[in-house]
Amino acid sequence: MLAKDRVIRPDRFSLESRDLILVIDDSTDTIRLLSGMLKDQGQILFATIGEMGIRLAQSQQPLLILLDVEMSGMNGYEVCAALKGDPATKDCAVIIITAHTGMDSEIRALEAGAVDFITKPFNPPVVLARVQTHLRLQQQTVMMRQLAKRDGLTGLYNRRCFDEALTEEFERHHRRQHLPLALALIDIDHFKAYNDHYGHPQGDVCLQRVATATATATATATAIDTVARRPGELVARYGGEEFVIILPQSDAHGAGRFGERLCEVVWKLQLAHQASATAAMVTISVGVASLVSTVESNSLQLIALADQALYQAKAAGRNRAIVSTRP
Ligand code: GH3
Ligand code: MG
Ligand code: MG
Ligand code: MG
Repeated sequence: MLAKDRVIRPDRFSLESRDLILVIDDSTDTIRLLSGMLKDQGQILFATIGEMGIRLAQSQQPLLILLDVEMSGMNGYEVCAALKGDPATKDCAVIIITAHTGMDSEIRALEAGAVDFITKPFNPPVVLARVQTHLRLQQQTVMMRQLAKRDGLTGLYNRRCFDEALTEEFERHHRRQHLPLALALIDIDHFKAYNDHYGHPQGDVCLQRVATATATATATATAIDTVARRPGELVARYGGEEFVIILPQSDAHGAGRFGERLCEVVWKLQLAHQASATAAMVTISVGVASLVSTVESNSLQLIALADQALYQAKAAGRNRAIVSTRP
């Protein structure tokens, strides 16, 4: 089992949907038969028409799809190719079901992107063994995919994931909303001195504490400010002792207030920092920027603006949030 995310929203493959199995078959008898065989393996969804199966796969993100070849309308190979060609469903594993035995149909199934092949009439132990194997493989893949997005020390999203998410979010804001997108860049003050004074391992603990406090504050703030968490919000480790938060649909004023709240939250951790020239505790500086996504603007500009604001916060005495006043 995956460890449940403590403070961070699960990804597209949410933990609840991990054991969903979708059966697409035009015969209700076959669906009934398979549902009986697989009832202990996960939650079973079914569709009797290819197009309906594709829509269910898009909305429900099943871990595994059992797909009949011989169906009226779209056949199984066509459905499989459509699933594999859609970014929303390409990661679902597909097992093709057919009454045809032989190399040709097997090759066709694999060429269409299926991971395996089951023949009718069913041999229940074989069906069960194949389904269990692919469920296990899929669970491992999902776990690896989630781990690849995380920073090992803090558990936050990593830089690569942030870069991708920001580009995606910028485009989304531009396409749909023309709403402001904000960024908060956080840097721990005098952290080199912290390491020098307390040692690197204690420095790591400090990073973890600040990371958790930052992520929790973000989750709490958006839960209070809006009814639901804003989709696209993300807290990441930007590098070394720097963190970054994507704040969708936030203007400069709101994001600035949030930046100030982050400073307070870290101050309240009361982590002693005897070597700091700013205070007796660990403090952070925050640079905030907000941009309305247009054809002229891009995510790099947003980062540059937040970075300039962070520089100003450092120069103005640290332990504060400064909002970029530029566009
Ligand atoms: P400023 O207030 O201007 O930000 O000064 P600073 O000392 O925080 O900034 P500087 O960039 O000089 O130092 C950052 C330090 O962060 C240096 C580096 O050793 C430390 N650091 C980066 N990554 C890690 C890490 O994973 N663990 C620990 N313990 N320290 C780290
Ligand atoms: Mg059929
Ligand atoms: Mg730094
Ligand atoms: Mg620093």
